[in-house]
Amino acid sequence: MGARSDSGFTAESSEGPEPPLADSYGRVANKLRIQVTDRCNYSCDFCMPKEPVWLDRREILTFEEITRMARILAGMGVEKIRLSGGEPLVRKDVAKLVSFLAEIQRIRSISLTTNGSMLKEVAGELKSNGLAGVTVSLHSLKPDRYRLITGASNMLPRVLEGIEEARRAGLSLKINCVIRRGNNDDEILDFARLVRDWSVPVRFIEYVPFDGRHLWDAGRVVSGSEMVQKVSTVYKLIPVPRERGGTASTYRFEDGSKGEIGIIASMTRPFCADCGRVRLTADGKIVPYLFINNGYDVRPLLRGEAGDDEIRD
Ligand code: SAM
Ligand code: SF4
Repeated sequence: MGARSDSGFTAESSEGPEPPLADSYGRVANKLRIQVTDRCNYSCDFCMPKEPVWLDRREILTFEEITRMARILAGMGVEKIRLSGGEPLVRKDVAKLVSFLAEIQRIRSISLTTNGSMLKEVAGELKSNGLAGVTVSLHSLKPDRYRLITGASNMLPRVLEGIEEARRAGLSLKINCVIRRGNNDDEILDFARLVRDWSVPVRFIEYVPFDGRHLWDAGRVVSGSEMVQKVSTVYKLIPVPRERGGTASTYRFEDGSKGEIGIIASMTRPFCADCGRVRLTADGKIVPYLFINNGYDVRPLLRGEAGDDEIRD
């Protein structure tokens, strides 16, 4: 293993054309999460500050800059890209970015996490430009509660239509659901029923203290094991061996139903040791670890004279 650099990354020998993105714990990043914008049309109470201050547009990486950075990282072993935000679909022409990224040879899949409110209009174009799948965040099936959580009025039917359209377009689909005690933990079984009906995976996510409103409190965290227990009162679950670098523990239904239950237990069973993910923020910072505040600013390099080798170093 090479000496640890300031970024925590080291250059090691590899079978690939460039040294892989390995950190000093030997973890190799093969997944890249790109925050395409910091903006959002929702105001989820577990996420957004009450009065968000958006980045100036000039601070946001262009599609060309994002694609260049993704290509450099693909040369170092990144194979999978997920577009996120903010809400990625509020960024104009995001389907164009998908087509740029799809041209990078070593990228095996591109997916996107969305609140689903604008999915219906673009699902077909995203698919034809090379998107493999969408994860739609859906935290309640009750319209009033959905509005209280997200701050978005009358949006639940649109999100459901977006999901329908994504399926029609041939995108693979997952549901993300942040579970909080006293908020929506009474819907865990409803979601289990839904994913059986729809034959899709749901990821139940433990509530984490990244909330812009600082409302987080430990008493509201429902642990992954409690969620599994709740589903198991009605449906027998069988654990599925964990994917390398995967963040979820997954379970299938014993009766052969096609849906799947996944648990992202960031609070009670952190998966740091097995993490293969690196992030690129909307303003051009590489963040190797979710819990650090500042990433490593590559924007001046992307906008300056630096060649790819210098950026890679
Ligand atoms: N706007 C998109 C969405 O909501 O799907 C993508 C960005 S959002 C930050 C990515 C995921 O983080 C969503 O599934 C969201 O529910 C989840 N999330 C946001 N705040 C969270 C929190 N405090 N605890 C756990 N998950 C959270
Ligand atoms: Fe927006 Fe997603 Fe955060 Fe909700 S969770 S406020 S949809 S970025």
